[in-house]
Amino acid sequence: DAGGAAPAAEKGKSMADGAGQTGQAKAPGDPGLDEAIAAGGQQTPEGAHMAWIGLGANLGDAIATLQAAVRDLTQADGVSAGTVSRFFRTAPIDSSGPPYINAAARVITTLSPLALLDTLQRIENTHGRERPYRNAPRTLDLDLLLFDDVVMDTPRLVIPHPRMHERAFVLAPLSDLDPALRLPQGDVASLLRQCAAQDVEAI
Ligand code: AMP
Repeated sequence: DAGGAAPAAEKGKSMADGAGQTGQAKAPGDPGLDEAIAAGGQQTPEGAHMAWIGLGANLGDAIATLQAAVRDLTQADGVSAGTVSRFFRTAPIDSSGPPYINAAARVITTLSPLALLDTLQRIENTHGRERPYRNAPRTLDLDLLLFDDVVMDTPRLVIPHPRMHERAFVLAPLSDLDPALRLPQGDVASLLRQCAAQDVEAI
């Protein structure tokens, strides 16, 4: 199925009924948000930001975990709406265990980058994330990939995410959301072509 990016979910409604399936693109009482979504999410209402999030899981029921994580993310305080890519099955890179399921989400948020990272880590913890060692298999991994045009390099948060441009498991879902997306290292489609050796399959 080449359904591509699915429309946004109304806050409080599940957008995680299945990979690439979502609810209505509507946020009650927020016309600015409707306009932003109608414009393909390329504009954000005043005071709001656009953030791109990478999701991955390779333990337990990875698809169910990602569906729950997408729902948690789009219903989180300060997150108004979201668009989710299809889900992809990918080979572990710098990690081990069974294949990963990966996706990407684009959300509109009023949170700061660090507050959004707090939210992502809270969702990871809800789903039993443990960090026994670096790059261990994980029930859920959420990465903040892009946040508007923000560039920051702090011990807790580096954005744009420093390794996303060389990972097909990030680039394929991003390209699914927006094939014209430009990363600091180049456009998502050409970066993805450079990762042709990495196994990524839409499911
Ligand atoms: P990981 O165990 O691979 O999920 O890495 C998580 C660690 O990376 C956390 O300590 C975060 O504070 C840090 N980190 C730095 N930049 C980012 C980012 N852009 N997105 C998510 N985590 C980040």
